[in-house]
Amino acid sequence: MNDHSIESQTALQSKILHGKRALVIGVANEHSIAYGCARIFRQLGADLAITYLNEKARPYVEPLAKELGASIFAPCDVGQNGNLEAVFGQIRETWGNLDIALHSIAFAPKEDLQGRLLDSSDEGFKVAMDISCHSFIRMARLAEPLMNKGGTLLAMSYHGANKVVPNYNLMGPVKAALESTVRYLAYELGDKHIRVHAVSPGPLKTRAASGLKDFDVLLSEAIERAPIGELVDIDDVGLTAAYLTTPFAKRLTGTTTYVDGGLSIMA
Ligand code: NAD
Repeated sequence: MNDHSIESQTALQSKILHGKRALVIGVANEHSIAYGCARIFRQLGADLAITYLNEKARPYVEPLAKELGASIFAPCDVGQNGNLEAVFGQIRETWGNLDIALHSIAFAPKEDLQGRLLDSSDEGFKVAMDISCHSFIRMARLAEPLMNKGGTLLAMSYHGANKVVPNYNLMGPVKAALESTVRYLAYELGDKHIRVHAVSPGPLKTRAASGLKDFDVLLSEAIERAPIGELVDIDDVGLTAAYLTTPFAKRLTGTTTYVDGGLSIMA
């Protein structure tokens, strides 16, 4: 945490998410945005279900899940049939219901990610859309019956959805689809008091980001150009994600909330 003000300490101590159950998909390591979100949810009192991609990822994720006292720790590759269903089956058996589900995953094959959108392959585009966008729809469908007292679904987007960010390439249209998905799901689930949001962080040094060409340039430009003049960190993203799940945001749904130090307002 980089904010030690009395207000933020008080908010954290008030444990506003006490008794809430949160699924977090997308922790790869201690730099992951999903880890920042899970840590803040936990500090605010939530019980956690944390997933890991596969056996190769497990040794990096397991100590973090343990540190956060996760009640559920399960494998989940959203591209493999049955994986998401198994996680939700475990949630149903262990908890019986769910309040928060956070999707913080994205993938595109390297050659598609690093080339022009114009040159992206059929298969590369399909995989990127499936893992980074349609899996959010599948997650929402499985969460719906467990969110019988309402809930919040969250997805991670990026400014490249709305403006052209050089080197973001095919992820631009994929994130645009994700943000639109958030709005349509918000519409379809509103009467069940399930709120749906995209969170759009400024650039952060994570493993996924290291797959983008010239990402360091994006980071240094963010520091130079953002009104707040500093990079965001994963706890900043976690605090905003947490806010969206609380009664403070109970009349908000379908939004894309930027956590970028104001970078996206700049021409
Ligand atoms: P990260 O590498 O830590 O996280 C990406 C996660 O996606 C990993 O945990 C990985 O296991 C998971 N993943 C990939 N394929 C998967 C699959 N088939 N099934 C399940 N999980 C899968 O990087 P991150 O930056 O924390 O990325 C999280 C999200 O934040 C992504 O949606 C990304 O686009 C978004 N985002 C990142 C930045 C940034 O600058 N890092 C900025 C804005 C948005």
